[in-house]
Amino acid sequence: MSGIRLENITKQFEGSTAVNQLSLEITDGEFLVLVGPSGCGKSTLLRLLAGLEEVSDGRIILDGKDIAGLSPRERNFSMIFQNYALFPHMTVEQNITFGMRMRNEPKHLHQARVDRVAGLLQLGPLLKRKPGKLSGGQRQRVAMARAIVRDPKLFLMDEPLSNLDARLRTEVRDGIMQLHKQLKTSTVYVTHDQMEAMTMADRIAVLDKGHLQQIGAPERLYAHPANLFVAGFIGTPSMNLFLLPCADGMLTVENQPVHLPQTEHAQTLNEVYLGIRPEHISDQPAEGESLQLQATLTYRELLGAEYLCHADTAIGKIRYVRKNLLRENSGNIPQPGDRITLHFSLHDLHLFSGQNQQNLH
Ligand code: ATP
Repeated sequence: MSGIRLENITKQFEGSTAVNQLSLEITDGEFLVLVGPSGCGKSTLLRLLAGLEEVSDGRIILDGKDIAGLSPRERNFSMIFQNYALFPHMTVEQNITFGMRMRNEPKHLHQARVDRVAGLLQLGPLLKRKPGKLSGGQRQRVAMARAIVRDPKLFLMDEPLSNLDARLRTEVRDGIMQLHKQLKTSTVYVTHDQMEAMTMADRIAVLDKGHLQQIGAPERLYAHPANLFVAGFIGTPSMNLFLLPCADGMLTVENQPVHLPQTEHAQTLNEVYLGIRPEHISDQPAEGESLQLQATLTYRELLGAEYLCHADTAIGKIRYVRKNLLRENSGNIPQPGDRITLHFSLHDLHLFSGQNQQNLH
């Protein structure tokens, strides 16, 4: 199967543009995650793909044909919703075969297909139960079974983990990933949780205010965010960002020069955003070419294996991650109020235009 291409998709509701001139391609067999803050348009984009909303403008191309005008049923995509939408009065088996029965598919085909998905999702012992007698994770698996039983061309998943507690989340997430490995059906998965996106995606598409901000592998977005929004959104704890003055293609951080790239745009800027991830800062001297920043530790949060330290500096508040090694002499760990020197490598700096917020590299 070839991929699915969205070309300049726009969706307007009365008074607002939920999706704005968005183009992207879902390649065959990939797990694409749409991520962004509340209201960025990710659910609308999923509903446009499903055919539950009509596009205001643009094309959805599948196998060389524009399918934007087709009904949800004609598209043969399967959508899995947040609340699973199971029928409470039907057994698991009846829920799974509901679509086949609606389409009057021959009964003798049902059993083989039910057996296959029940095997894949370990639902065999639960087939005669009703949804009310299932745990949240089991209900999720039934919803998955119902979605895969008809061999769809594309899975569409709208925050399928959001109603589950932390332990179940991991279990169901692993289940989804395993299933994807086995079936290799192209999947578009919506979440507002960037950690979920990072751990699950082949590629992530970051949306903000209806616009596609960046699309790429998780590692790529983390290492080379295209703009200030992606820099702040991808990564936990989030990147430290400072708006600083610059001139003639250079800024100074406590009298240490940082050169901007030799582009025409960068050389004309008088403000630039400097970004550095908390995990790339150390209160111990760094190897290689590094910058130093004098700071006062304000407080520490214990995250488990490490502390998230908060400090004040001349350029603003900064956060950095410090290992909490149990055997380490606790006298070495800075205490609130201590004066410290922070070090970070020039290689780990990110620079964004103060004008258009795009990455300067
Ligand atoms: P969330 O994570 O909160 O679900 P989202 O990123 O999925 O957010 P959408 O639900 O796609 O965002 O909404 C995008 C924008 O479109 C929002 O401003 C929303 O208010 C608006 N919107 C969505 N559906 C409708 C509708 N049926 N009528 C009018 N406006 C809508």
